[in-house]
Amino acid sequence: MEKKQFQSESKRVLELMINSIYTHKEIFLRELISNASDAIDKLYFKSLTDSNVDMGRGDFEIIIKVDKDNRTITVSDNGCGMNAEQLESNLGTIAHSGTLRLKTSEEKLDDMDLIGQFGIGFYAAFMVSEKVTVTSLAYGEDQAYRWESTGVDGYTIEPCKKNGVGTDIVLMLKDNTEDESYDEFLDKYRISALVKKYSDYIRYPIKMEMEKNRLKESGDGDSSDNEYETYTELETLNSMVPLWKRNKAELKDEDYNSFYREKFFDFSDPLLTIHTNAEGMVSYNALLFIPSKAPYNYYTKDFQRGLQLYSSGVLIMENCADLLPDYFSFVRGLADSQDLSLNISREMLQHDRQLKLIANSLEKKIKNELKKILTNDREKYTDFFNTFGLAIKYGIYQDFGAKKDFLKDLLVYHSLNEGKYVTVAEYVEKMDDDQPHIYYISGHDPKAISRLPQLEKIKEKGYDVLCLTDDVDEFVIQVLGDWDGKTFMSAKSGDTGLSEETEKKEIEDREKEHSELLDAIKSALGDKVTSVKLSTRLKSHPVCLSAEGEISLEMEKVLNSMPQGGNIKAKRVLELNAEHPVFRKLVELKENDPQKFDVFSRVLYGQALLIEGVDLEDPIAFSEDITAMME
Ligand code: ADP
Repeated sequence: MEKKQFQSESKRVLELMINSIYTHKEIFLRELISNASDAIDKLYFKSLTDSNVDMGRGDFEIIIKVDKDNRTITVSDNGCGMNAEQLESNLGTIAHSGTLRLKTSEEKLDDMDLIGQFGIGFYAAFMVSEKVTVTSLAYGEDQAYRWESTGVDGYTIEPCKKNGVGTDIVLMLKDNTEDESYDEFLDKYRISALVKKYSDYIRYPIKMEMEKNRLKESGDGDSSDNEYETYTELETLNSMVPLWKRNKAELKDEDYNSFYREKFFDFSDPLLTIHTNAEGMVSYNALLFIPSKAPYNYYTKDFQRGLQLYSSGVLIMENCADLLPDYFSFVRGLADSQDLSLNISREMLQHDRQLKLIANSLEKKIKNELKKILTNDREKYTDFFNTFGLAIKYGIYQDFGAKKDFLKDLLVYHSLNEGKYVTVAEYVEKMDDDQPHIYYISGHDPKAISRLPQLEKIKEKGYDVLCLTDDVDEFVIQVLGDWDGKTFMSAKSGDTGLSEETEKKEIEDREKEHSELLDAIKSALGDKVTSVKLSTRLKSHPVCLSAEGEISLEMEKVLNSMPQGGNIKAKRVLELNAEHPVFRKLVELKENDPQKFDVFSRVLYGQALLIEGVDLEDPIAFSEDITAMME
């Protein structure tokens, strides 16, 4: 019979499985059971709308058989089954995930990544088996097929006989080696324990013939003296009660964590678990998780947000996006409600009142739980915010700030004085009575920001400054407008409101005195700057940039980087420190060496740009100027 080849990526995963880099080989069983349960789900859904499927909820089951003599384990289900094409496409390729197709060959994934992305799946069977045989009869078809493979060298598919719809997967276990024994999987008690451990919440019974002892009955109906007999009984191994329907008090962190890791294919435990029941207007159970790391595709359009939606314990939708607002799209998990109809269509769901109620209630719950960690565990909240804070910020900014009041309490910024994240409320609470504004400064790295010359005066006053490290932050601040009547003020804005009238007057006088010099710098720089001024905020630095008007230098950067961003320019003001030796040098050059004066002016402007992290307009010219100064 012709041997077909595995698609190349499948082959790679298969190789990994066979050489099993994975230490928990036992999880092969979980994977097969989970596939069986999915297959049953599919047929069960069909039965809800298709009266030709003459099977009810109680007819579905997964059966495990262990044959010690032949060293085989069989996992059977009476789910939807697979026809020849499906056997080929589902088991011969890893097309279902689709993610790998996006990856180019240059972008090499390491092996654990690969497994992380795909889950372990059906191929896990090869961790323990030398041969895997899948016999399947798809629902609605007459012909059954057998898929068989001994590993990477390919697989065969041939027609065969099978009674009843569904799939039997027979694993022929590997021989024991010096290092590894596979016999444990021939022990029914071990198998039973594995089912309990990994598959307890599977909603269909997982059954196995178990040997039992009982007292032998004698002819007259009495138990005869201590005589026992062995008998076998098909026993259901799993409790079938989903985790989220169990009592919180009975559950340990590890129960939630392992459930999360298995269900959502994450290697790490979640940062936060929310298990909640609601009753009233709408009743539901929900089990929500905030991952500790962003999924690899979280910030791409491939990321599918949403929660699993169950109706009375039965999955009705894998990714119900309507259950989560965009700004909480990082939340994974599920909601289960008896108030939802099982065979509701996706279109109808969107308008479903119950669903909206659940979504609203979950949204509040998520916010409250986040607020709890914000208050009680700042370190944990910091981890959360570093990972998903951007989603919250976009949430505030989106839709012209429609949700800003709901979300603003979750916002934190790095505080320069405290060296950690603080809420705006905490900042405001600590403000001095005479502090006119909430000060912020933008830039990507708080460490670098803290040394910006524009901060000198604010620091001298001892006022705290919030570091705005994301591009969206200035827009967020604009949307917020103010906080309890306190206005936000960029440390880089033209007038930070910190100069006394006398001080202003003094600077004005000096500007008059040096007006020719300032004009000369302005003409050396042309329209690169809107104006050149003497600074009231610089103490030890010679120069800095500020912006006049609505558009800050950061906004300029962000707006111009957008696809439709035009040629937006902030009104740049070059500020000079009149107390600095460099300024005195300028005064001198103006008199004696006008050419060098121009070079100095351009270099100072270049420095101010570099401090801002704005690209030099002409780096070569800048370098030439520096060279000229050094000569
Ligand atoms: P995943 O379950 O993550 O999709 P798998 O590699 O485990 O990936 O399985 C690949 C596909 O093979 C499944 O998506 C499913 O369509 C099919 N499949 C696997 N096991 C069964 C089964 N017992 N019954 C029906 N289809 C199955």
